[in-house]
Amino acid sequence: MRIDRSARAPTSDSLPAQARAATLCVDLSALVANWRLLAARAPGADCAAVVKADAYGIGLEPAARALAAAGCRTFFVATAGEGERLRAVAPRAIVYVLEGLPQGGAPMLATARLRPVLASLEEIREWGAFGRSIGRRLPAALQFDTGMNRLGLAPREAAAAAAAAQDIETTLVMSHFVCAQWAEDARNARQIAGFEEALRFFPGAPASLSNSSGIFLSQKPHYDLLRPGYALYGGNPTPCAPNPMRPVVRLEASVLAVRDIEVGETVGYDGVWTAARPTRLATLGLGYGDGLPAGASSLPGRAGAEAIIGDYRCPLVGRVSMDFVMLDVTDIPASAAHRGATAEILGETIGVDELAARSGTIGYEILTRLGRRYERRYIGG
Ligand SMILES: *Cc1c(COP(=O)(O)O)cnc(C)c1O
Repeated sequence: MRIDRSARAPTSDSLPAQARAATLCVDLSALVANWRLLAARAPGADCAAVVKADAYGIGLEPAARALAAAGCRTFFVATAGEGERLRAVAPRAIVYVLEGLPQGGAPMLATARLRPVLASLEEIREWGAFGRSIGRRLPAALQFDTGMNRLGLAPREAAAAAAAAQDIETTLVMSHFVCAQWAEDARNARQIAGFEEALRFFPGAPASLSNSSGIFLSQKPHYDLLRPGYALYGGNPTPCAPNPMRPVVRLEASVLAVRDIEVGETVGYDGVWTAARPTRLATLGLGYGDGLPAGASSLPGRAGAEAIIGDYRCPLVGRVSMDFVMLDVTDIPASAAHRGATAEILGETIGVDELAARSGTIGYEILTRLGRRYERRYIGG
């Protein structure tokens, strides 16, 4: 299928094609533009950045450096280890650790100036007791669980939490949406109501509810602090509407070889894909060892992912191997599909949401599994 590539970004061609099998290009200007776009949707609120899991796979340090330089002051990581990495590149940032307070972890978190997202009365008391022992009320967020049933206090525990929190400095009260990407879902309103119920016990404390998709809800549950992750990295926070975000990652692989096969020959492991016509194949140098999901395979009865060569979309055929994948390039000009040609797996045309849908997974998983093996280059920022 011929596609319109008029909006195409420049390719990363400063290295000779033969020097790289696959390249991941991360556009830090697009990351910053996405952060600004999200922040602008809630002029009365501050906009944080969720940079857990190595900034959703794009690289914690370069992402945090670019966002901090753009004015982002608050970051969320999942673990204390990620928090320490962030500290090293953003010394003045406010850093919340979503995992909360591991038992006995208070001295380590306090020394690293990390703020735990406390999720139980026990955690609040432990953080408060450690603060008392060093003569300071230590800052932390309190998390209420309004429907995830993952981590957090129940709204009915709010009074007890407020009492236990006397010994800490409550810098944020937060909760997390179950399905804010489905704007019509009744759970969104129920979660907002549950959160409001808890908030009544914390007058004056800054509040935060919205992840990427929550920012776009008609109720505007923006409160004092936004907590986007996915949308920063180019994922679509509104899957029922066009993606308002700029793509941040571009993944390219070079064609290692082109071959012609006969009707009836099979392609790849297990021979599950059989040529129904004389077929020209192009082999690319990346596979599930680089984060291309095995689910992107093209199997009987199920089309898989596609890649772009020149101005053409080409379907993957057969199973994705660890280091290789094969494309059907029969329908595109030989001048486009040749050894050394570049194929785009992710980018302006095929975004993380499309690759995920074609691979039977979600864009979050595509991003966080981006491989460590190919060359990574950072542009902009
Ligand atoms: C991961 C996470 C976010 C960010 O969610 P996105 O959907 O990626 O925007 C925000 N808050 C909490 C508590 C999270 O775990």
